[in-house]
Amino acid sequence: MKNAVYPGSFDPITNGHLDIIRRSAQVFDKVIVAVVDNPNKNPMFNLEERVAIIKQVTKDISNIEIDSFSGLLINYVKEKNMDVIIKGLRAVSDFEYEFQMALMNRKLDKDIETLFMMTNSQYSYLSSSLVKEVHRLGGCIKELVPDIVIEKMTNKL
Ligand code: ADP
Repeated sequence: MKNAVYPGSFDPITNGHLDIIRRSAQVFDKVIVAVVDNPNKNPMFNLEERVAIIKQVTKDISNIEIDSFSGLLINYVKEKNMDVIIKGLRAVSDFEYEFQMALMNRKLDKDIETLFMMTNSQYSYLSSSLVKEVHRLGGCIKELVPDIVIEKMTNKL
């Protein structure tokens, strides 16, 4: 049985993230979407809100679990007895940092593998930070995030 952890800030979850979650859930027996607790990054949504939103928009996917963690990802992955870390890749610009991270994580634990999943081309320019910026300035973010996310973001403004 192969299990994977898909870690991220998900502040907020976008359709790019959702696409990776759906595709990962088809490849693995079980996927944990692990929301990182990063209070000093000053997130728009706190940890509980991010977890609740992801639960709501993924309730039709049966083999996933939504959880949160703080500290080293590799420790969390081991603690949960998982085998694989999933990362989404959008562009060459993601590569350098992710490459460095994957090698560091392998150095910390050689038994845990990092797998990269290529973004769907329609989401290749999409990031949570860009979505927040466009929404704040009054731009339309429909089709980039689930409707419920637009609603919650509008309430925050
Ligand atoms: P971001 O703020 O860049 O969206 P996250 O930490 O929330 O960052 O991202 C979590 C994971 O999802 C990372 O592996 C990231 O590369 C990936 N990801 C983010 N946006 C997309 C997208 N549009 N398509 C595919 N993968 C993505």
